[in-house]
Amino acid sequence: MRVSLDGRDLATYPFLKESQQLAGNIADSLPVFLEGVTGKRAASSAADRVIEAVTKPLATDPPLPSSEALSVKIEIASYAIARILVSCAKDRQMIDRLAKYEANRAYRALINEEPEKRVFLYQALGMDITAGGLSVVQYIPLAAHLPEDRWRLVNRTVDRGIVAVSSGEKDELLREQIRVLVRSHLPLPVPERICQLLAAEQGRIQAAVSERMLEEYGVVETGAYPPCISAILQALADGRNLTHSGRFSVTAFLNNIGMDPAQIIRMYGRSPDFDEERTSYQVGHISGRGGTEYTAPSCAWMKTNSLCIRPDRTCDKVQHPLTYYKVKKRRLSSGRPVSHADDFPATGSHDHKESDQGDQVPDSRSDDRRKGDEKYDKRKHADQSGDDIKDPGFHDGTKV
Ligand code: SF4
Repeated sequence: MRVSLDGRDLATYPFLKESQQLAGNIADSLPVFLEGVTGKRAASSAADRVIEAVTKPLATDPPLPSSEALSVKIEIASYAIARILVSCAKDRQMIDRLAKYEANRAYRALINEEPEKRVFLYQALGMDITAGGLSVVQYIPLAAHLPEDRWRLVNRTVDRGIVAVSSGEKDELLREQIRVLVRSHLPLPVPERICQLLAAEQGRIQAAVSERMLEEYGVVETGAYPPCISAILQALADGRNLTHSGRFSVTAFLNNIGMDPAQIIRMYGRSPDFDEERTSYQVGHISGRGGTEYTAPSCAWMKTNSLCIRPDRTCDKVQHPLTYYKVKKRRLSSGRPVSHADDFPATGSHDHKESDQGDQVPDSRSDDRRKGDEKYDKRKHADQSGDDIKDPGFHDGTKV
């Protein structure tokens, strides 16, 4: 099908081959372009794109791009530079959010397009819908990351290898296809010189991300720490050595909720092997001083590494210690009394081996609380002597 694309189309769908050809011309002389007036405008617009992706992903429909030649050029360059910016940041979460943002942005425009242009977009992005649906081979990888049950193959009508999808669902699958396309090849191998040219915009993005984290997590509320983090911190306060996994998870967690690195370093002060210089280096590394900021590991990772210690009822509702913290903090600041039951260990909903936890760090709670827990926790700890939190292996380098 022949559809002619105008400048506005190219700017609206900057990931299309036709748009990328224009971006390719810019990339040939990127340092020169970035130092010029148009390049600076494009870099600023790219940073706005990333900031929006990270802080308020498409609260409203994006304005339609202008069809004026210079604006088209800036818009397409802005898309390409946004990919460069997140690559320089080496931040996996930022990359994922940008991909999602770009897909949503295009989706909002495409659902209002003429049918011919939509068909063109399906074809241009490799989705064969000529059979009225999508082949199973194409459908499965696209639906794999869509969370709702309606996308599971068992819930679809499949006829001779074709999965039936409604017109609206085709658009949703196209959005997913765009997300995958934008996400592919990221992070790009960007030369350091280019990242340096974009340092000011990177700083602007980092400031916006920090501000958002402050809004999201606010001031540090120690009473909202999840049990695993409290247990690790208690082990530190008791002057016990932590394993690599324990250090990594607690440092990343405290950094993610906005604790000052100097304060985190102070927490290690009672470690038997405390070395300020080395601790400062490690904390700085996890906090992003080396260019990559790490996100605290998920509950699944904590369980695998025997660091999910004494989960309570709130743990049943979360899959990440940071989510636990947000939920508990919200509850504390609402003035709603925290249910006593919330703090008792959950019974049986966690898939860790019970003997893997609790033994490894002392129970720091008051005698009354501990007795209360014992009613629920009949475990006999086989080994009370181990000082270290067990580390069954290296962490998998969880980066964002
Ligand atoms: S379930 Fe998650 S938040 Fe709760 S103790 Fe385990 S790792 Fe921590």
